[in-house]
Amino acid sequence: MVSREVQAHDTVVRFGNASVGGDKFAVIAGPCSVESEEQLLSVAEVVKKHGAVALRGGAYKPRTSPYDFQGMGVEGLKLLKKANQQLGIPTVSEVMEVSQMDSMCEYIDCLQIGARNMQNYALLKAVGESKKPVLLKRGLSATIEELLLAAEYIFDAGNPNIILCERGIRTYETATRNTLDLNAVAYLKQRTHLPVVVDPSHGTGVRELVIPLSRAAAPVGADGIIVESHLNPCEALSDGHQALTGPMFEQLMQELKPFVEAA
Ligand code: PEP
Ligand code: MN
Repeated sequence: MVSREVQAHDTVVRFGNASVGGDKFAVIAGPCSVESEEQLLSVAEVVKKHGAVALRGGAYKPRTSPYDFQGMGVEGLKLLKKANQQLGIPTVSEVMEVSQMDSMCEYIDCLQIGARNMQNYALLKAVGESKKPVLLKRGLSATIEELLLAAEYIFDAGNPNIILCERGIRTYETATRNTLDLNAVAYLKQRTHLPVVVDPSHGTGVRELVIPLSRAAAPVGADGIIVESHLNPCEALSDGHQALTGPMFEQLMQELKPFVEAA
């Protein structure tokens, strides 16, 4: 169902006043984790001012170590809703378990399935039944075919509003956190009508590489990017090393202007 053979025209996924897919190049931005009202609202204001169409922020965090910050939970979701109401910017946040679906649907506009849950079929079916737009991230070691089949689960459960996300895969390379597979973006755009966004934050894991890889996304066919940004990355509770500062986010948007405005 997600194949171009079934549907030739591009799917456009809409939530709030954001749309991803079609002619637009969309920038989704915000912190890795929601940490406090002040942290979230201040960064939300900056990314909105410079042209982000949606705000990201994790309230439930899939951390590699159980001793790391696990997210604010439902309090974080409420802060995302507050940012949405105050600034009019729609939100994207990760759902980790089926039991979180009710509160996610109450507070959040677009449900992110994280890389670690790409093959959590119960969760895929649950978001499929929910009808909320879904941002589906490629698994750490998933093939493109497996990503498409994960999307197929969501589609088959009744939800066609799916954005695919290339967020880097695990390879033998250790210089960067992951290897951003831009092949996958060009390939996916030929195979599927679903929009495809690039996550250069997790794709590289290095703040200084985020702008160059963001610039690379549009020419290979991406419909947008999702980037992490934090006004004080040294104090961030997760992924501070890959977060763009406020001025860097402004620079990013300047550099992406030809794509955002041409769209
Ligand atoms: C995130 O977006 O912060 C995240 C945990 O992403 P991924 O699932 O791609 O690792
Ligand atoms: Mn992160």
